[in-house]
Amino acid sequence: LPPVLAIDGPSGAGKGTVAKAVVRALGWHFLDSGALYRLTGLYCQRQGVAPDDARRAAELAAVLPAEFQVAGEAERILLDGDDVSTELRTETTGALASQVAALQAVRDALLQRQRDFRRCPGLVADGRDMGTVVFPDAPVKVFLTASAEERARRRYNQLKEQGADVSLASLSEEIAERDRRDASRTTAPLKPAPDAEYLDTTGLDIETVIERVLAQVRG
Ligand code: C5P
Repeated sequence: LPPVLAIDGPSGAGKGTVAKAVVRALGWHFLDSGALYRLTGLYCQRQGVAPDDARRAAELAAVLPAEFQVAGEAERILLDGDDVSTELRTETTGALASQVAALQAVRDALLQRQRDFRRCPGLVADGRDMGTVVFPDAPVKVFLTASAEERARRRYNQLKEQGADVSLASLSEEIAERDRRDASRTTAPLKPAPDAEYLDTTGLDIETVIERVLAQVRG
């Protein structure tokens, strides 16, 4: 089986940035599992399915008409043919994602789809349960975290860069709420795999974090 680098942790810990840097350095494939939960949340909303309707949400997750288009550095994500790249990143969609992600039936429906991303020469998998549930046999696992303030600030800067109209105060609250839900749910609560390297990135610059993770992968 091709190798997997599992990167887990709460929102704004730098997982996406580190994952993409490793993808660039090694030419591995990339799984943004959060995007699948975000797409499922959005698809439920569009189909008029409540985010706590386990049966219908799982049915939609199982047939999710999503497409990931990569063109160099840019990536477009389509849902049912619609470009939802921008809407996908909003905190409103993040909250929807976190609600459907609490449903075991939805997680089950997305499991094989995530495992199918594992192809040669390797896969960088970004999420909450990559090292614990989806790829428990991943040879390298890292758990990235940072203080709540720093994570909110990073998310804020990221959304601002994309031209979103957000306030740091309300974003901090929304992210704290989402993290609470992700950590306290009974289905796949966010926690590091026992064999994951735990990296608190508060105050570290991202280049240092990338170097450390690359060193782990290169052994
Ligand atoms: O990582 P991202 O912020 O895009 O994830 C959105 C939400 O999807 C998370 O808050 C979490 O509830 C859920 N998620 C999950 N398992 C994953 C990835 C994301 O439960 N592997």
